[in-house]
Amino acid sequence: MLIGDNMKRFVFVIVIFVALSFFYDSPVHMKDFVGQNYILAKEFLYENNIKYEVTYVYDESIEGTIISQSVIEGEKLDANDVVIIEVSNGEDMIEKYKKIGVNELGRIPVMMYHGIYDMSDDETDYLGGNVDSHGYHRTVESFKKDLNFFYSNGYRMIRLDDYVNFNIDVELGKSPIILTFDDGLKNNVNVLGYDDDGEIIIDPNSAVGVMESFKEKYPDFNVTATFFINQPIFNQSKYNDDIIKWLLNNGYDIGNHTYSHANLASINGDEVIYEIGRMYKLLDDMTNGKNVNIVSLPFGSPTSREHENFEYILKGEYNGYEYTTSSTLRVGWESDLSPFHKNFDNSFVKRIRAYDNDGLDFDIEHNFKILEKSKYVSSGQNDFIVVPNNLKGSISKDFVDKVLTY
Ligand SMILES: [Zn+2]
Repeated sequence: MLIGDNMKRFVFVIVIFVALSFFYDSPVHMKDFVGQNYILAKEFLYENNIKYEVTYVYDESIEGTIISQSVIEGEKLDANDVVIIEVSNGEDMIEKYKKIGVNELGRIPVMMYHGIYDMSDDETDYLGGNVDSHGYHRTVESFKKDLNFFYSNGYRMIRLDDYVNFNIDVELGKSPIILTFDDGLKNNVNVLGYDDDGEIIIDPNSAVGVMESFKEKYPDFNVTATFFINQPIFNQSKYNDDIIKWLLNNGYDIGNHTYSHANLASINGDEVIYEIGRMYKLLDDMTNGKNVNIVSLPFGSPTSREHENFEYILKGEYNGYEYTTSSTLRVGWESDLSPFHKNFDNSFVKRIRAYDNDGLDFDIEHNFKILEKSKYVSSGQNDFIVVPNNLKGSISKDFVDKVLTY
C-alpha cells in the first residue's frame, strides 16, 4: 500500500513537470484562424492544451468559418487562458427570405405566343410590335424586347411540364416564367437547310433562333418553351422530323394542339377523341413518347372545366391508342397561381396573351405590373415551400407539411 501511494505521487510530479516545462521552455503563440474552418483552431488549441469556447452566430460566411478569436495572432498563450472563438452558423435564411420577399405562393406567368414575324415594329400597322389586330402575332423586334424585359425583371424560365407537375426550380430571389407557342407556324422554327454535319440550320430571326441567342447570352435565363402543334407539325414537310428531334435535344417541349385545330366545344365526344387521340399518336410516334401530355385548347375552347367534352380531352382511346392528359391550357388573360396554392388547378391553366395594348386590357405591361406585387419569388431550395405568414392559409393541403413561414 505504501509503495503504491508513493508511486502515484511520483507519477503526479512527473506530469506537472512535463506541463510546466511545456509552457516555460517553448511558449505557445496564438495563430490567426479568422476565415478558416473552426476545426483547424480546435485542433491547434487541443493539441496545445489551451481551453477554448465556441460561440455560434449567423453570418454571411460559410457555416463553420471562424469570424473572430479573442486572442490575437502571435499572443502568448498559457494554461489559464480561455480562447473564445466565434463561428459562423451560416446565414440566417429566414431573415434573408424576409428581406428578399420570398413568396412561393405567388403567381406565375404562362405566356401565350403564336407567330414571330421577321419584321421590325414600325413595319406593322399595329402598336407595340403586334402584327395583327388582336396581337396574337409579334415581330422579332418585340419578341426580343419581351425576352429582355422578362430577364431584366428577374424572371427565369421553367418548363411548363414542371409547373403543372409541382416542380419549380428557380434560383433564390428569382421568379418563374413559362413560354408557350401555339399553331406550329413556320416562323416558330424556320429551317434554312442543313449544315455540313447534317444538322438543321435554324433561321436566327425565327422564334427558336432568337431564343437560342438569348440562351447563349444569358445561360442563367434557362431558356425553354413548349410548342403546341397540329397535324402539319411545323409546316415544313422536308424538315419536320428533324425539327422535332432538334427541339427535344435542345431543351424544348412539344405538346398537343389537336389534329386539325378543332373547336373542342362544338364537336361531339367521338370527334374530340379523334382530335386529341390522333394527335397524341402522331406526337408519340414522332418523339418516341417524349412529348408532354398537355393540350393547348384551340380558341381556348371549351372555356369551362365543366363542359361535357372535357372528360374526352383528359382521357380516351383512339383506335386502340390510349391517352391521358395531365393539363390543358386556356387562351387566358392573366397569370395563374403557384402550384402550391390550394386553388391551383393544373388541369386548366390560364395564360397571358403576349401582346401590347398600351398597358391596358391584360397586355404584357398590365400583367407584369400586377405581378410586381403578386409574383412567385423563389427561395432557391426545394425542401420547403417558403411563404410569408399572412399567406399560410392559402397553401394546398398536399404541401402543408412542407411549409416554412416567416
Ligand atoms: Zn391555335
